[in-house]
Amino acid sequence: MYTFIKVTLKNWKNKRGASNRSCECGCGSWKDHWTQCSGEVWPPKCSVEGCDNTATVGAYIVNPKVPCDMIIPTCHSCSIREGKFDLVKDVWVVPADRAKKCTELDRAV
Ligand SMILES: [Zn+2]
Ligand SMILES: [Zn+2]
Repeated sequence: MYTFIKVTLKNWKNKRGASNRSCECGCGSWKDHWTQCSGEVWPPKCSVEGCDNTATVGAYIVNPKVPCDMIIPTCHSCSIREGKFDLVKDVWVVPADRAKKCTELDRAV
């Protein structure tokens, strides 16, 4: 089972070029990866603070304070946006890579 840890909401960035990657567990898309790893229902809204769009894709995000690359549900435009952004409260932040040390599932609070 997963353990749940808290991660920061602040100062996330999209990892450039990461949308071309796929997960090592073979989920097919980052959206599928988020759903399978979190066990949660795909949320209706984008996980980026201040964005009201529908969540359609799994965005590959990084944060200097968090040791693992993460996946969150976002709209398409947030998945490719430049610069830093914050996350909405209570989003499930799923590690991109389950094969390594990132077996905790993080809840951003
Ligand atoms: Zn996967
Ligand atoms: Zn968005």
